[in-house]
Amino acid sequence: MNKTILITGAAGFLGSHLCEYYVNKGFKVFGLDNLLTGDINNLNSLKSETNFEFINHDITNNIRVKDDINYILNFASPASPIDHLKIPIKTLEVGSKGSQNCLELALDKGATILVASTSEVYGDPLIHPQKEDYWGNVNPIGKRSAYDEGKRYMEAMTIAYNQKFKLKTRIVRIFNTYGPRMRINDGRALSTFFSQALTNRDLTVFGDGNQTRSFCYVDDLILGIDKLLKSDYNLPINLGNPDEISLKDFANEIINLTNSSSKIKFFNLPEDDPKRRKPDITLANKILGWRPKTSRPVGLKKTYEYFLTLSIEQLMQTFKTF
Ligand code: NAD
Repeated sequence: MNKTILITGAAGFLGSHLCEYYVNKGFKVFGLDNLLTGDINNLNSLKSETNFEFINHDITNNIRVKDDINYILNFASPASPIDHLKIPIKTLEVGSKGSQNCLELALDKGATILVASTSEVYGDPLIHPQKEDYWGNVNPIGKRSAYDEGKRYMEAMTIAYNQKFKLKTRIVRIFNTYGPRMRINDGRALSTFFSQALTNRDLTVFGDGNQTRSFCYVDDLILGIDKLLKSDYNLPINLGNPDEISLKDFANEIINLTNSSSKIKFFNLPEDDPKRRKPDITLANKILGWRPKTSRPVGLKKTYEYFLTLSIEQLMQTFKTF
């Protein structure tokens, strides 16, 4: 059986879970990352695995690997809103040059490639929930444009390689995912709320807090990605949890879970902040037989246990973004 997989973005949140998943399934795994936003410690559990090899490399440069590779998962990208603002050109280069380098490697190796796209390709959506055939409402020059347009370009390039070279491609549009090893200072609501609640600071909710998000637990997402990789479906497919919650209610859930004395404090809504986010996962259910199984209380409890292992200094990193 063909079992060699190269995972880019390996030292990141999702990449590290994917590396563990495939090592546990008996694959030879190459984990590639340039540690731009990731942390090598995320791969600690794999240090002594003979079937795991770390490659320190930037995907915007040509990727050369001697071994045969059967599958590629391209998950390398600055992924959080704070990164896009700080390193917009690099973010665009990763989506464009970086994606093409991964596609070229897949072509060279005859590998199947799955690329990590995002719900951000829908921008601030005008239809709800978001289905794959919705083209989105993206501001091409807004604060999120480096990420959104980089990912849209990546999707276009991936489809082009599929059409022109018959390359076996898969595109996953990932909606908000959370769990152990998520970045503490990623500027996203969940990690910020946990860090604030655990240090008894007020939880910062932007706008009136009625904007919604839908959070998917990482283990559910990984199973969906594996099913997609093994399928022969080459058009984009949403993976996420449709269980929608307002940010205000979500902040209260975290305060209750952590038994914190924190209160909620409201701030002005940032530019281009999406008002609603909820995946329509009908297609994933139909094509892959997939739907998330972890309820928010269960997923949040596991994530809380992870946050409890962090030191105060680590939690304080969150606030460097404000
Ligand atoms: P992350 O920041 O934890 O991981 C991204 C990893 O990519 C990091 O380890 C970083 O060092 C690496 N990287 C960045 N630029 C690179 C480059 N030029 N060369 C090599 N490595 C590079 O983010 P994540 O949450 O794990 O996201 C992983 C992927 O999933 C990203 O492509 C992201 O856009 C996508 N995604 C994630 C979510 C989510 O909720 N976590 C949602 C939608 C899409």
